[in-house]
Amino acid sequence: MSLTVAIIGAGFGGLCMAIQLEKAGIRSYTIFEKRADVGGTWRDNTYPGAGCDVPSHLYSFSFEKYSSWTRRYPGQPEILDYLETCADKYGLRPRIRLNTEITAASFDESLGRWRVRTTAGEEVFDVVVSAVGQLSRPRMPDIAGTSDFEGVAFHSARWDHSQDLTGRRVAVIGNGSSAAQLIPRVAEVAGQVDVFQRTPNWVIPKMDATFGDTLTTAFRRMPLLQRGYREWIYRYAEGALYPALAGGWSTELLRKIALDHLHEQVPDPELRAKLTPGYPIGCKRVVIDSAFYPALTRPNVNVVTDRITRIAPGGVETATGLHEADVIVYATGFHASDFLAPMEITGREGRRLDEEWKDGAEAYLGIAVPRFPNLFMVYGPNTNLGHTSIIFMIECQVGYIMGCLPHIAGRGSMEVRPEAMDTWRRSLDRAMGKMIWQAGCTSWYKNAAGRVTNNWPAATTVYRRITKEPRPGAFRFAR
Ligand code: NAP
Repeated sequence: MSLTVAIIGAGFGGLCMAIQLEKAGIRSYTIFEKRADVGGTWRDNTYPGAGCDVPSHLYSFSFEKYSSWTRRYPGQPEILDYLETCADKYGLRPRIRLNTEITAASFDESLGRWRVRTTAGEEVFDVVVSAVGQLSRPRMPDIAGTSDFEGVAFHSARWDHSQDLTGRRVAVIGNGSSAAQLIPRVAEVAGQVDVFQRTPNWVIPKMDATFGDTLTTAFRRMPLLQRGYREWIYRYAEGALYPALAGGWSTELLRKIALDHLHEQVPDPELRAKLTPGYPIGCKRVVIDSAFYPALTRPNVNVVTDRITRIAPGGVETATGLHEADVIVYATGFHASDFLAPMEITGREGRRLDEEWKDGAEAYLGIAVPRFPNLFMVYGPNTNLGHTSIIFMIECQVGYIMGCLPHIAGRGSMEVRPEAMDTWRRSLDRAMGKMIWQAGCTSWYKNAAGRVTNNWPAATTVYRRITKEPRPGAFRFAR
């Protein structure tokens, strides 16, 4: 096959796509990476305590199992190391263009190919695969006065390691998964930490532990053991955690686990009341952490629930006064529902993707969009998960895209039919009805209009089945 492929992003998704192309003997691809190295979100998020709350053995490619994990839940350095190892092992580096951002891509109908504009010029490709992730662009909060602050301020995903926080007054805005991981580490050294919580999160324990030499050696020497362990984690997440998000048998159990965790770790009833969510568990991303609550009970940590009115030169101002700070950490999440923005993507008939998506991003199987031939997405709309490893979904998508390539090579450019998209939208809406995400909370799973644009509303086994191979009838082909 002589197709040329542009891959956008060198995180888990982009690397997976490139590896499968390599395995198929297709070397006519380029990975464009806007930052200085591979790793995506795991290169960007270097805040103290950064790690993954999906068990390590499942948080890796099925075809590249890793026996060197040192603990049940991997830390950021280990995951980054894994991704760098993959890039080296499969010889991807010569085809990765670092520090090169794609600013626009437009489908040239006369050529049947994509014109891809980068910060370095324009190139033409047969196929474009976007693997930019959902959590790549840090979101600064819409709070007045952020530029007035006279201290040091940074986002959790752009940690300023030149700053020594020892003895300083640190304000952390936000209390999601990132904040929950960094607060315990910051609190160990800072003089004072004020945590600004707008909405309490449900928190369940993270049963982390190191594997130790014996178990690590066993995993290395007995691939079957590793496979079995990985399978067990997958089945547990699918069988016990997924039902909790779909109003199933484990919802009440998960809620009880979270409330017990809160009671055990936070003895003070006043603080406990502040930390008790008033919406169903799973509606927002559940925080999985065992160090977060104990950190909040420390004498140098204060949970502030008053509304922030502005950022003042000397700190964070709320309705009840100024909370002085030397450093502000914005743990305020990402532009998750903007998907391919700010790239300007133009399909057939001059259609702009941002206009097609003005009411919310959507894609057939989360992968393809009508009028955008030969454009595919990895970790696209409605493919995020709240209960298991996203790497599973990425592998399904990459497998599906690989299955599309022979069709493109043989029959010309390939575009999902609007009727297939309509049927897909209806089935997605039906499945979404039973999910907990719409049960009266705000979250990054939804866009500004309240539509759940990010999450996959069924078991991942279903996703694997429907993405097994492309159905040619769902597409139109053009030479
Ligand atoms: P997030 O979950 O979106 O949390 C953002 C936090 O900032 C929320 O507490 C939010 O409050 C608060 N916030 C936003 N704007 C604010 C404002 N104007 N005023 C006050 N508070 C404001 O972001 P995140 O913690 O970075 O996590 C994002 C996702 O990354 C996670 O859900 C998870 O999927 C992933 N992640 C995973 C891991 C892992 O272990 N695998 C670790 C870190 C992150 P509200 O809740 O009130 O909106």
